[in-house]
Amino acid sequence: MSLLTGLLITSTVWAQEDFWLHDGPILLKNITIIDGLGHDAKPMRDVLIEDGKIARVSVTTMMPTLPKGTRVIEGRGLTVLPGLMDTHTHLMDIDYTRSTKTGDELAAMDGGDLFGNAFNYAFPSDNLDSMQRYLNADLYSGVTTVLEVGGNMNVSVLLRDEIEAGKRIGPTIHTSGAFVNAMHTTQSGTDDLAKPETIAEIDEMFTSREAHGINHMKIYAGVTAWEARHIAHVAHNRGFKIIADLWGSNLSRDFMEISDIDAYAHGGMLTMTPDDAAWMAANDKFATLTLLIFDNQRGLRAYEDYEKRSFLKNPLVVDVYGKKAVEEYYDAYLSLQEQWNDGDQAMYARELWGDKTGNLESNMQNLRVMHEAGVVLGIGTDAAYPPGSWPGEALHHELELTVQAGIKPVQAIRMATYNNAWYIGVENEVGSIESGKVADLLIVEGNPAENISDTRNIVHVIKGGKLVNRDALKYR
Ligand SMILES: [Zn+2]
Repeated sequence: MSLLTGLLITSTVWAQEDFWLHDGPILLKNITIIDGLGHDAKPMRDVLIEDGKIARVSVTTMMPTLPKGTRVIEGRGLTVLPGLMDTHTHLMDIDYTRSTKTGDELAAMDGGDLFGNAFNYAFPSDNLDSMQRYLNADLYSGVTTVLEVGGNMNVSVLLRDEIEAGKRIGPTIHTSGAFVNAMHTTQSGTDDLAKPETIAEIDEMFTSREAHGINHMKIYAGVTAWEARHIAHVAHNRGFKIIADLWGSNLSRDFMEISDIDAYAHGGMLTMTPDDAAWMAANDKFATLTLLIFDNQRGLRAYEDYEKRSFLKNPLVVDVYGKKAVEEYYDAYLSLQEQWNDGDQAMYARELWGDKTGNLESNMQNLRVMHEAGVVLGIGTDAAYPPGSWPGEALHHELELTVQAGIKPVQAIRMATYNNAWYIGVENEVGSIESGKVADLLIVEGNPAENISDTRNIVHVIKGGKLVNRDALKYR
C-alpha cells in the first residue's frame, strides 16, 4: 500500500451553502411512501425529518405540531423512497471526452486498454476535481450510498472522509480498497491491485484496511477457490466480507462452497439452478448481477444507440456530463465498433463471452431463480466502467432491467436500498423509511411501484436530512 505521498489534491472547495437548499426540519406532506422493505406503496403519508433523521412517519394530518423553521414539501403526486444505494462501483476520474489517441494507437491495444483509452477516464485517479463529477452524478440521480468494490483505498478514504466532514458533497462511500488478484506472481501490486504472496501479506491487507475503518474486500478472477478460502477465513475472523468477480464463472456454487466467500459482484455465463439458489439463501450469500453489463457488452448503450443518441435526452446523464462529453462518447464507441466482437483484440470476444444476446436473458433467469429461492440480492452497476455504466443513471437502468426480468418494482427497490444496506452492514442506519433512520431520501414524481422508470423523475434528493441543491451538481 502506498501512502498519500504523491497524491495531488486539487480539489475546488465549494462554499458549504451551495450544497444545500435547506438545512433544517422538513415535512413531506401527503406523499406516497415506498419504504425500501418491499412493502406495497402507501399513499397519504407525512414524513417529518429532523436532525438528519426520519423523526416520524404517519398518516397525513396526524402529525403533531411541527418544529420551528420546518420546510413543508407538498407531496401530492409524489413518491418518496430511500436514497438509492449501489453496491458495485469504482470511483474514477470520468472526463468522458474523447481521447487524443489515434486510431492506430487504439488498434494496437487489447480490449481492456481500449476501454480506458477510447476516451478520457482514469482508474484510479488523483484528480479529485474530476472525481467530484462522479460524486455529483451519483447524488444528482439520488444515489446516496455506494460500496466501491475495487479502487484506490487512499483516494476513496480521502473522499469518504471529506464527505463525512461536510467539506465535499457526495454519496456516503464504503470501499473495499484495492482488488486482490493473481497471487503467486513476481509482479508487485499497485494502489488498485493487491497481490499478496504470503500469509503475512494477506494479514497486512486486512490490517491496513482496518486502520481506515474498512470491512470489505474484493477478490478477482485470478484468485483460486482455495486461496479465497484462506482469505475468507481470515476475513470472517476479523469482521470483513468478501465479494468476488470471477468473470464468466460468477455465481459458481462450487467456488462459493469451497471458499466461503460472501458475495458475487456480477452475473456471468453460468446457469443458477433452484438447488444452488436455495443453498445460497440458506447460507446468507449475496449477489449483484449487474444486468446492464450485458446490455453494455452488446453495445446497446454505445454504438448501437449512435443514431438515436438517447443519452443526449437523458437528464441524469447530460445534465451532469454536458452535451460535448456525451457526443464524444458516442463518436468514440462508433469508431470502436469493429473491435467490439471479433479479432484478437476484441473488447467482448465471442470466445470469452459467448452469446452476448443470451447472457442478458440467462442472467435475468438467474435473477428470478435466486429471488424465488430467497437469496438476498442487491443492485450494483459497475459504474463508471464504460460504455454505458454512467454513475447515477446506471442504477435507474438496472432497476428497469430488474423489473423486466420479472421482479416486482417494490422488490427491485428493496434490492437497491434495504438489501444493499444489509450487505454493507448498515441496515440499522439507512436503506429504509422508518423513524430513526438517517434521512437519505429520493422524492420523485409519479409512483415507481407502478412504473419503475418513475425513479428517474427526480424532484428532490435529501442527504443526511438536508435538501440537496441539485442545480449545483450540474455540469458547468
Ligand atoms: Zn466492477
